[in-house]
This record gives sequence, structure tokens and C-alpha cells, in this order.
Amino acid sequence: MEIYVAQHAGFCFGVERAVKIVRNAAGEYKNLYTLGPIIHNPQLVNELKSQGVDVAESTDDLSEGSTVVLRSHGVEKQELNILAKKNIHIVDATCPYVNKAHSEAVNLSKDGYFVVIFGEKDHPEVKGIASYIEGEYTIVSSPEEAYNIDFREKIGVVAQTTQEKAVFDKIVDILRNRCRELKISNTICNATTLRQNAARKVAEMVEVMFVVGGKNSANTRRLYKICSEICEKTFHIETKEEIDKSVLIGVNKVGVTAGASTPKNIIDDVIEYLNGVNNGRE
Ligand code: SF4
Repeated sequence: MEIYVAQHAGFCFGVERAVKIVRNAAGEYKNLYTLGPIIHNPQLVNELKSQGVDVAESTDDLSEGSTVVLRSHGVEKQELNILAKKNIHIVDATCPYVNKAHSEAVNLSKDGYFVVIFGEKDHPEVKGIASYIEGEYTIVSSPEEAYNIDFREKIGVVAQTTQEKAVFDKIVDILRNRCRELKISNTICNATTLRQNAARKVAEMVEVMFVVGGKNSANTRRLYKICSEICEKTFHIETKEEIDKSVLIGVNKVGVTAGASTPKNIIDDVIEYLNGVNNGRE
């Protein structure tokens, strides 16, 4: 059985940076929290917990004297205000690309554009982008929803950094007929596109595909969706323990990819397991 690993898989720049910031902060601060899990990966969250980094589910869980690390996908403006009022020390690990999406959306709004955010309505990054906009905006999660937007003079469109470029392009095409002036700000991060293209390439070559990452990780779920459209036997797993060995019977080519929030050791474990199946160890 040949094992193909996507050329771009696992931690992206922003996640790598955020995890590093938390690890450094763990040695420096007591009463240290992240506002929500630092990444959508339960294994890493547990490891950080053992180093004294707790997860605050909301700003209500934080009190004066504590330090909070802001996650790579940023926070809402209202949350920042609450943290300032409560006098909580902030270590900001927001990815610079997410900050860029914030500022693009704000600038479009200031310039009089009705802002369309392409993203998942309940995702913290999207809520964050929306919270900085002072004018009118809407969030669409699919081309179908873009059809429902009323005609406007000026529309400006931005995207959640982890969205798929091809879908963004479809939405942009629909919006062209929904306004007189369209301003496009493609805030999709290169890391996402690289991971999606690399995953597609592997999925096309194999009979079974494993997408490794947190079940609550939006970008891992999207990789799973992309791969499962190409390779029927695609499985979303968090760790090697979830691999059902029977799906590998008679398989000659297996593929592996991983979301941007999947630590390297977890991907390596999966590859090692597959190698083990190959030589009869597993
Ligand atoms: S996917 Fe891109 S924007 Fe999001 S955290 Fe990673 S590098 Fe930053």
C-alpha cells in the first residue's frame, strides 16, 4: 500500500504562531487563559492545560489579575471592550491575516459599501469581522444566499480566511448583478488554498483518504468535504485510534491530509500507523 501525504498539511503560519505565543506565555504568567480553545484540537488543548493554560469559555470566566491569550482567529470588538474594562492583561495571538480581514471590512464600510462577508455565521472569526463594521453588512455562507441580497449601489465583499476560493468566486459573480459597484477584497488566506489544492491532488490519486483534525475544526471539515467529493472513501479522524483497519483491505493507495489546526505529532502518528499496517505491525 502506497501512502501519499498532502504537500501542505497541518499547522498554518497563524496557528503555529499562536501556539508558540501560548507556550511562551505559559512560562511567564500565572492565571493564564485562552479565550476559547487556542486551536480546534482537543489533544493540544489538554497538553496546554497540563502546563497551566486554562480555557475561558467567555469573558465572564475571567477576572482582574488574569492574563488571556486571544486566538489566531481573533475576537469580537465587544469582547475586547469587556477585557479592557475588567483590566485583564491581553496577549494577542490574532493572525495578521485575520487582522487584515478586519481592517478590509472596516475600510469598505467606511467607504460606503454594503459589506458582504462570505463565511460561517457562527464562526468566531466571522463574528469578529462583523463586529468591527459600523455600517450595514450581511453574512452569506453559500452562493444561494448571495442570490437573496437586495440590489445596492455599492457592495464590498470579504471572506472568512479559511473559505474556498472557488465558492468565493461564484459569490462574487452573483454579487456583480446585485449592485452598480462591486469591490472585491479577497481575504482568503493562502495557507487554506494551498492545503485545499494539495488535499484535492492526493484525493484524486488514492482509494482511501484520511483527513486528520478536530471534529469542530471548520477548516478540517472543509478539507473533508472537498476530499469526499473526489474520493468516496474519505474519513475525518481526530487520531489514529479512529482508523477502521477494515477499510484498508485490498487498498493500494491511501492518502493523508490534515487541517491547519492539527499538530504534527498527530499527523505523524497516523502515517506511522499506516506504515504499520503495511508491514503487518498493526
Ligand atoms: S488559516 Fe491563514 S488566516 Fe487563518 S490562522 Fe492560518 S495563516 Fe492565519
